Amino acid sequence: MSIQNEKAFKEAQKYVAEGITEVTERTRKKIKKIIIESCLNNKRSGRLEQIFFDEITDTYENLNRDWTRVALTETNYFFSNYFIASLPIGSFVIYQAYPDACAYCKSQHYKVFIVSNPPFEDYSKLNPTDIKYWKIATIWETCIWPGKNNFKRRTTLYKRTPAGLELRWHHERSMPCTPAHPWCRCRWFRFDPEVQFVNAEGRIKFRLKEREEEYQLWLKANPHIKERGIGTNW
Ligand SMILES: [Zn+2]
Repeated sequence: MSIQNEKAFKEAQKYVAEGITEVTERTRKKIKKIIIESCLNNKRSGRLEQIFFDEITDTYENLNRDWTRVALTETNYFFSNYFIASLPIGSFVIYQAYPDACAYCKSQHYKVFIVSNPPFEDYSKLNPTDIKYWKIATIWETCIWPGKNNFKRRTTLYKRTPAGLELRWHHERSMPCTPAHPWCRCRWFRFDPEVQFVNAEGRIKFRLKEREEEYQLWLKANPHIKERGIGTNW
């Protein structure tokens, strides 16, 4: 991918390295600079790993840090945010997972999402009995925006508490975004649901006269596509 859209590039820069834990601000800035420079120069993430190792000289911070993971995850996060930020609000994108992806990412494969603004409120602060909580939950399920991530969210349905296992609230559960987790290589692609759809075998097909019935079934199973505008214009 080449960087042509300056506004999207600026937007994507904001989020680089924001989720890396146990790191000083100085190191975070360094990581950010290395990622952005290498993305601009189209360096491969394998080479990035060595640059991190050479440049992060503080032995404590270099200790036990998996630089391959940082290089791969952060590069994917940067390009994902750049790609989403370069699309107009209301565009459709499709999630693509590799055949060897984790179970969570595979469950999102070829699902269609709407490019939107971020939700109007941090719903983790709301009471789940509030209707607004579930309105925002729906935005997380069906929309994508630059900087959407799964920091502090988990794929497991239950969490361990002093009282035993408890079902996670919606805001604690992983939601579709890329990377969806460290090491995630999933990608977004543009999609046009007026002329494309995903058939029962999980393949992207063009909408043709003889496939109209199949197309309508798919559309029915994905009501958010018809309701475009949900959460995109607040
Ligand atoms: Zn993934």
